[in-house]
Amino acid sequence: MENIDPVPLNLIGTAREPGRGAAVAAQHDPATGSSRPIYRKADTAQVAAAVQAAQISDWGNSTPAQRIAALSALRDQIATYSQDFARIISREIGAPIDFARTAQVGAALSHLDATIAAMPAALREEELDGAEHRIRFEPVGVSALITPWNWPLNQIVLKLGAALAAGCAVVLKPSELSPRTAGLLVECCLRAGIPPGAVNLLIGDAETGAHLVRHGGIAHISFTGSTRAGRQIAGVAASRFARTTLELGGKSANLLFADCDLETAIRQGTAHCVRNAGQSCNAASRMLVERPIYAQAVALTARHMNEIAVDLPDVPGNHIGPQVSSAQYLRVQQLIAQGIAENARLVSGGTGLPDGLTAGFFSRPTLFADVTPDMEIFQTEIFGPVLTITPFETEEEAIALANATPYGLAAYVQTTDPVRADRVSRALHAGMIQVNGTSRAQGAPFGGVGASGWGREAGLWGIRAFQEIKSISGAAAVRT
Ligand code: NAD
Repeated sequence: MENIDPVPLNLIGTAREPGRGAAVAAQHDPATGSSRPIYRKADTAQVAAAVQAAQISDWGNSTPAQRIAALSALRDQIATYSQDFARIISREIGAPIDFARTAQVGAALSHLDATIAAMPAALREEELDGAEHRIRFEPVGVSALITPWNWPLNQIVLKLGAALAAGCAVVLKPSELSPRTAGLLVECCLRAGIPPGAVNLLIGDAETGAHLVRHGGIAHISFTGSTRAGRQIAGVAASRFARTTLELGGKSANLLFADCDLETAIRQGTAHCVRNAGQSCNAASRMLVERPIYAQAVALTARHMNEIAVDLPDVPGNHIGPQVSSAQYLRVQQLIAQGIAENARLVSGGTGLPDGLTAGFFSRPTLFADVTPDMEIFQTEIFGPVLTITPFETEEEAIALANATPYGLAAYVQTTDPVRADRVSRALHAGMIQVNGTSRAQGAPFGGVGASGWGREAGLWGIRAFQEIKSISGAAAVRT
C-alpha cells in the first residue's frame, strides 16, 4: 500500500468529520500503479448538512471590501503553501514536480489575481438612466462547485474565487482522485479568515456529486468535467431551474497555414498537446495543416514528439508524467489501438509503456498522420499525449474540419496574414481562439460552446456566472 497524505475530512460548517457513506473505488499511485488507502465518501445526510451550512452562512452580506480582503488573504495563503500544493498535486495526479509548481499552482494564483482585479467592476451597481434606474448584481445563492482532477487546484480556484467574490457560499465536491489538493485549499480559506459555512467541503465521487446536484437548496452548479457528466447535471438542474455553468471536454484544432512560422508553430503545438500528459481540456490535439507544408509538418512534428521525455513525477525537469489513473491509461491505450485499426498512419509512439518505464500509467507520446474526420481519433477527446494531423487544401476546408466535431472549446490559428487570422478566428466555432501562440490575457473568459459546455469562467465573466441581475426602476440607492 502506498504511503500518501491522508484524505482530508469533510468540512460542514465548523464541523470536520469523516465520510459516513460507502468506500470510493480503488485508488492507485499513477507513477507506480501501487494501491492507495481507500476512504469513505460523504453520505446523503452529510451532503444535506453541507448545503444547510452554506444556506445559513451570511457571506452574502459581506461588503465588497471584506471580500477583496478575504480573497487577497487567500491568495497569500496559497502562495505560502505553494510547495505543499505542488507536492500534493504531483503525488495525486502524477504531474511532474516542476510542472506542478510552475504551471499548476501558477495558473491558480494568476486566476485568483484576475478575479480580485475584476471585483470592483463586478460588484458595482450600474445606472441606466439616472440614479433611479439601476442594475444590481446580487449573489445567485448557494453554489455547488464540482471539479475534476486534471488541474485540481486551478479548477477549484477559478470557481471558488468567483463564487466568494460574488457573495455566494459554496459546497465544494472535488474529484475523488484529488481530494488532498482540495483539502489544503479549504485549509487556506480558513487561515485566510473566510468564515466557516461560506466554504464547505464534501469528499466523494460521482455519486456524491449527483446527490449534491439533486439537492433543492443548490441555486447554481458550477461544473468542470466530462461532457457525459455535464449532460446528466444539466438535465437534473433544468428540472428545477437551477443555474449551471458547464466547462466540459474539448478536441481543439490547431490550424497551420502555409505562411506560418512552421518551426515555432510545430514546437508550440506539440508541447501544447502533450503538456500535463495530454490531460487538459483545451489541448491542441488536432493539427490541421495546409497541403504545401504537410509533409514537412509531419516530419517536424514526429521529431518533436520523439524528443518528449516521459518520466516519474518526482524527477525535476521538463518531462511529462503518467495518466492519472488506470481507467484513463486504458482509455488512451484503447484509442491509440483504435487509430491503428482505423488505418491512420502511426508516425511515432503507439501502445504500451515508454522505453525505460516498467510500471505506472505512462503513455507513449503518439502521432497519427492522414487522420480523417470519420475516424474516432479525430472526433473523441483522448485526454492523453496523442496528436492527430490532417491535411487541408483551402481555408474553407480548414474551417470546416476545425468545426467538424461536437466540441467547441478552443482553437489555435497559425498564419502571418492578419486579415486571414481575423477572418478564420471569427469563423471558428469555439469559445477561445489563440493566434500565433499568443497567450490568453489574464482574466480572459474561459469556456466553450456546443459539447464543450456553456458559461464562462475567469475575471469579470467568472464572477458574473455567480450573480443574478436585478433592475430597479424608481428608487435610487439609499445608504443607511
Ligand atoms: P468527470 O466528469 O468524470 O468528473 C468531474 C467531477 O464530477 C468529479 O468531481 C466527479 O466526481 C464528478 N461527477 C462525475 N459524474 C457526476 C455526476 N453525474 N453528477 C455529479 N457529479 C459528477 O471528469 P474527470 O474525468 O474528472 O475530468 C476530465 C474531464 O474534464 C475531461 O473531459 C476534460 O476535458 C474536462 N475538463 C474540462 C475543462 C474545461 O474548462 N472545459 C477543464 C478541465 C477538465
